Amino acid sequence: MLRWSGSQQVTDRNRAEQHGLVVAFAFPARAPCHSEATHERWTGLAQRERGLCVPLKATKWKRDLRHSRKLQMQEPAQRNREQVQALVVGSGVTGSSFAFLLQHAGISDVICTEARGEVGGNLISRSKDGYLWEEGPNTFQPTPVILKLARDAGLESELVFADAKLPRYVYWEGVLHALPSSPADLITGRFRLLSNAGKARAALGALGFVGAPKRVARQAGPEPSEDDDLADESVEEFVTRHLGREVFLKIIDPFVSGVYAGDPSKLSMAAAFKRVYALEQLGGTRGILEGALIRLQQRRRERQRWAAENLPKVKAGALGSFREGLQQLPLTVATRLGPERMRTRYALRQIEYNGAKRGKRRYTARFETPDGERVIETDALILTIPAHAASPLLQGLGVSGSELLQEIDFPPVYSVTLAYPKFAARFPLNGFGNLIPRSAGIRTLGMVWSSSLFPERAPPDMNMVLSYIGGARDPGIRECTPDEVAALVDADMRRVLLRADAPSPQVLGVRLWPRAIPQYNRGHLRRLEACNQGLQGFPGLFLGGNYLSGVSFGDCVQWAYDNVPRVLTFLQETA
Ligand SMILES: Cc1cc2nc3c(=O)[nH]c(=O)nc-3n(C[C@H](O)[C@H](O)[C@H](O)COP(=O)(O)OP(=O)(O)OC[C@H]3O[C@@H](n4cnc5c(N)ncnc54)[C@H](O)[C@@H]3O)c2cc1C
Repeated sequence: MLRWSGSQQVTDRNRAEQHGLVVAFAFPARAPCHSEATHERWTGLAQRERGLCVPLKATKWKRDLRHSRKLQMQEPAQRNREQVQALVVGSGVTGSSFAFLLQHAGISDVICTEARGEVGGNLISRSKDGYLWEEGPNTFQPTPVILKLARDAGLESELVFADAKLPRYVYWEGVLHALPSSPADLITGRFRLLSNAGKARAALGALGFVGAPKRVARQAGPEPSEDDDLADESVEEFVTRHLGREVFLKIIDPFVSGVYAGDPSKLSMAAAFKRVYALEQLGGTRGILEGALIRLQQRRRERQRWAAENLPKVKAGALGSFREGLQQLPLTVATRLGPERMRTRYALRQIEYNGAKRGKRRYTARFETPDGERVIETDALILTIPAHAASPLLQGLGVSGSELLQEIDFPPVYSVTLAYPKFAARFPLNGFGNLIPRSAGIRTLGMVWSSSLFPERAPPDMNMVLSYIGGARDPGIRECTPDEVAALVDADMRRVLLRADAPSPQVLGVRLWPRAIPQYNRGHLRRLEACNQGLQGFPGLFLGGNYLSGVSFGDCVQWAYDNVPRVLTFLQETA
């Protein structure tokens, strides 16, 4: 019998309601820059130098101000039509980062909307009874862009990092094997997950002495076909070709489950792991080792370019979060924007394109809210909602190719957080966690030993473990109830981590993500390209989100950082 803490259904109301629905006045919190001098005063020279800040014409922001004042004087019923320069739809890590960066660059006339009652999208952090746990993503890799965003948002002192030396394990035939922390460790005798033959095959393949020849980049015809998609090499094919079957089965297969909850025989290497895929072309040999060494040097140079920013120092390999969990980022952005600029329970239902008519905003967005329909007209529209939510809206607008976004699979995943007394574990849980290859016959995909990552996440005598279960190879998980899933994970933990006499767990959080992570399956890049072509006829409309940028937290922030200048340029050119 599992003990539910009763908190798994608690929705942290205090925090959510802080950002609840507030009918807004479109009063700009800060006027956008209208001259070079004031531009510098508002935003700082450094931002302008990085191209993140664009001076806007005085007439335009005065028009916005007049409009805002007019809105304030209107009766509530008349307030259901507003105008803004930029509208960001979706408040996940992509949307909230984007809205923040726009505001930070001087565009104060921005609104971010969210269909749900709280901000954050996949980022859901909960706390109760001395525990703090995640119900979506658990950590991020602290890239310079994330560190900079955290600092600019005032969250630098809230950053927390796990010890970079914490080992990651793979469960294989009843034993937890620590993964090597460097490529050299792969071939040492201490690393027993791979056989000597497996190690030799991986080393020779990486050097380019064995394995099929380099693949020539695929040239899809004007009408891409299913054959083109089959020619799109899968993760399984690529890894087996380069490093051998054993590395694939014992390391890459569980890793892919851990990152994508995906099926490596379907995932496209070029789309899902584009940086690793590129290594093959980067080096002169058939293997990927030479490309990896070149890439290492490139990364060193990239890091040096960030040195002037004086970002927080982080050890290589350390994973990060915020003191109050990952959701602290969007919650902070919501506070920075204010409730009139961050709107929850605002579900986008329809988009209209008005063209470039004088005195008229380009897009009209219609929202369903608890107070009925609300309309926002905007010059730049940035959709950061999932592909399956964006597709019907774009089809309604007439964007050709957008129907292909419906083909992107988002399989279900349950996240399950259980706590046990420390004495119930077979050994001290000092590590990041463990992955489980699909061939092991264990349904859980992986276990994150959350209480050993960051301080004060659990009472000192308790282990707290976050498990993920389901994914592309186990879609039937969506038919299970939360009780059944908690029991399944508890049984798997008894096989992998716990003593036979371990007491029942305290069940902290069990959440079904019916459509969790987009699968970059074969043909993914073709689908995106077709949609991108269709967007050409819709200036000012930008698509973002984890089906485009890469699925990790860091990929989403990087996308926002890279694309804010495009929106700023658009606004400047059309002002
Ligand atoms: C269970 C799980 C575990 C993960 N673990 C990790 C991890 O440990 N590390 C890592 O780096 N990444 C992890 N990821 C991936 C990462 O969390 C996501 O890729 C990322 O959070 C996606 O952010 P997003 O803003 O693009 O999309 P989302 O978070 O999906 O945000 C989109 C938002 O749009 C809103 N929306 C949808 N339709 C509308 C509409 N019509 N109108 C208005 N709003 C709308 C949604 O409610 C949602 O809030 C995990 C993902 C999941 C699901």
